[in-house]
This record gives sequence, C-alpha cells and structure tokens, in this order.
Amino acid sequence: MALQRQRIAIFGATGSIGQSALDVIRRHPEKLQIAVLAAGSNVNALADLCAEFRPKHAIIADVECLDALRDALHDRGLSDIEAHAGDQAHCDLAESSEVDTVVAAIVGAAGLASTLAAARAGKRILLANKESLVVAGELLMHAAHDGGATIIPVDSEHNAIFQCLPSEVDAKQLQRIILTASGGPFRGRPRDALKDITPAQAVKHPKWSMGPKISVDSATLMNKGLEVIEAHHLFAMSPDQIDVLVHPQSLVHSFVEFVDGSTMAQLGLPDMRTALAIGFSWPDRLTSGVGGLDLVKEGGKLEFEHPDLQAFPCLALAFESLRKGQTAPAILNAANEVAVDAFLNGNLSFLGISDVVEQTLLKMEVSPVESIAHLMDVDRESRNVAVNLLPH
Ligand code: NAD
Ligand code: MG
Repeated sequence: MALQRQRIAIFGATGSIGQSALDVIRRHPEKLQIAVLAAGSNVNALADLCAEFRPKHAIIADVECLDALRDALHDRGLSDIEAHAGDQAHCDLAESSEVDTVVAAIVGAAGLASTLAAARAGKRILLANKESLVVAGELLMHAAHDGGATIIPVDSEHNAIFQCLPSEVDAKQLQRIILTASGGPFRGRPRDALKDITPAQAVKHPKWSMGPKISVDSATLMNKGLEVIEAHHLFAMSPDQIDVLVHPQSLVHSFVEFVDGSTMAQLGLPDMRTALAIGFSWPDRLTSGVGGLDLVKEGGKLEFEHPDLQAFPCLALAFESLRKGQTAPAILNAANEVAVDAFLNGNLSFLGISDVVEQTLLKMEVSPVESIAHLMDVDRESRNVAVNLLPH
C-alpha cells in the first residue's frame, strides 16, 4: 500500500520562506504534496506556482484580486483549481480535513489568524511567521496545546534550539538559551553613522537572503528582539534566561545551556531549507538541497560578541516589552510594522524606526490580554499611534 503523502498548505507561498519550502517539497514528490497555495496580492506569481504544483486550492489574500486569480488560472488551463480570497479563506483551509501541515510564512501580524486556526485544528505547523507569537504568544501556544497541534519552529535560531533539546526536557535542567545574530549589514557602526542608511542598503543582508521586512528588522536588530519574545513562548524561558550573541559568520544557529555546564549548538550553512526540511520530516530527516558545512572553507573561524544596544536600541525595546508582558509585545510589533513600512517607502529614516517604536510604547497603555479580538484592537490602535508619529 502506498504511504499517505503529507498534504501541505503554504501561506505566503510567493515569499522568500514560501519559495524555500517549495524547493524542499519539489525534491520529495513521493512524500510531500501541495494541497493549498496562498499569496498576498501577486496573482501571476501564485498562478505560476499553481501550474507547477497543481494544488486543489489557491488563495489570494487581497479580495479585490479574486477575479484576476480566476482569470490567471483559466489562462493556464487550471480552472479545476478552486480560487479563494481573503483572510477567512486562509483560516478555513487551515482547518480543512484536506490539509495535514501548514507552512505559516505570511509576513507580519497578518499571519496570526490563519496560524491560530491551524493551531486550533491540530495541524502540524511549520512556524516562520514569528510576529504571530510576538503578538499572541500565550493564546497561540494554548490553542496549539488544546488543539493537539505540533508547532515546529522554522526560524533558524529556534529550529536550532528545537534540535538541541531532548524530546522530554525537564525545565529545571535548562539554564539558558543563547540566540545568535548575524549583526546585520551595519554591525560595528556607531549610532550616528546610521543616519543616512537607505532602504537598499538595509535590505542587503550579509548572510541571509530574505524578504524586505525581516531584512530591515535584521539591520535594526528588531528581528533578534522579536526572536527573543518568540523563544520565550516556544520554550517557556524567562527573559533572564535568554541571551543574544552576535556571530557574524551565521554558522552556529543558536545554543542551549544545561545546568550541568554542557552547551549544545546546532551548525549549518545559512539556508532556510534545512529548517524547513526538519519541519516536514521531524523526527526523521529529509534531503533539503543544502550541502554539509565545511568549516575550513567557510573561513575557519567562529566569532562571537555582545550586541551594541546603544547603536541598535530595538533589541533593548523588545526585551523591555517582554518583561512588561501583557499587550506590550503586540504594541511593539505593530509600531515596528508601521515604522519599517514607512522606512521602506522612504517616509522615515533608519534611526526613526526605533524612535517610532519607543514613542508608541510610551503612548499606549499596557493592559492584560483578554482575547484575540482584544489583541487585534491593540494592534489597530498602536498602528494609528505609530502612523501619527511619522514625519508629515
Ligand atoms: P516575504 O515578504 O518574502 O513573503 C511574505 C509572503 O506573505 C508573500 O508570499 C506575500 O504574498 C504574503 N503576504 C504578505 N502580506 C500578506 C497578507 N496580508 N495576507 C496574506 N499573505 C500575505 O517574507 P519572508 O522573508 O518570506 O518572511 C515570512 C515570515 O517568515 C516573516 O514572519 C519572517 O519574519 C519569517 N522568517 C523569514 C526568514 C527568511 O529567511 N526569509 C527567516 C526566518 C523567519
Ligand atoms: Mg531567525
């Protein structure tokens, strides 16, 4: 009898993570099957992927694009693929019995609803969309627990920690986790040397090839701040148990320190396909297209330094909002999304990003999280506050 193939939905299929996930899937047609492909607004890129992977369903997030998606599928002789639009369609298909595994690769808080739906429905979730954990970490982890979902972090640092932790780990045996950070393209520069940074400079990451938002987050170190909050929720570690070390080679993806003085690390070339392959196959392994690590060829050295919180205050702001808890991380995330978007559109300076986040955190009142609806209100309100802080 043929083994049942894993039926996969990719949300954010046209993005950087989506493409890496599809590259792994392409290598294993006997095990992995695409059931749903979803994208934000790029109809033609989505339809082209549908032509290759033949999903049963295609979703475009922008509801205005539904007719265009139908036309694009029709033009490619793919009218048998069901076309859908909007956030609700993501949620419905995340819950569908036609899907076993959801790759959560939407960028930003926009990915929260569908990730939550997949968690409640007990799916295997390859979680790239870190913002959903930052905004609603406790609710999402509870939903996954109650729904019987398996969350496999595919953010490389968290995937490294996931691999280093034994399956039955007693929290008392863990001392600390240390997230590594490349330091981004401006590592080593003082704050006043960052005044005139352009979007083109900021998205040019030295080690990883990624979407524009996370590339800017890496340049400000907000990405590491979001990852600290992500790690807190995934691994139930207190803020004091999470450290960050800058590691410019980006070969050690993170460390776990145990109470007996032993430290475990996971190493590999900086390529997201490794973490995604683990997401699909864990506890087994699959080939991913990523070669082994030749440390001599990679320069023969591994360096580590402390992050410069003066030059990159976003990391400190993230730690601060994690310590404050409640709605603070959701406010931080919303303000950051607004600020990064404004920076990418030329409406805010690079240094303005941390200012907008800091000011929004000061202006918004922090309150206990009541529900997802409450968090969505906080998200909206924080965005309004942040928009009003942008230069006119
Ligand atoms: P990207 O910008 O390359 O892709 C984003 C995807 O989301 C695209 O397919 C886009 O169409 C879709 N999208 C955008 N807005 C949407 C909306 N409102 N509704 C539905 N879909 C929408 O981003 P990326 O670099 O692939 O990152 C995706 C997520 O993965 C982010 O949360 C990022 O932090 C995380 N992540 C990325 C990397 C990486 O190497 N790129 C590494 C670790 C974590
Ligand atoms: Mg990461």
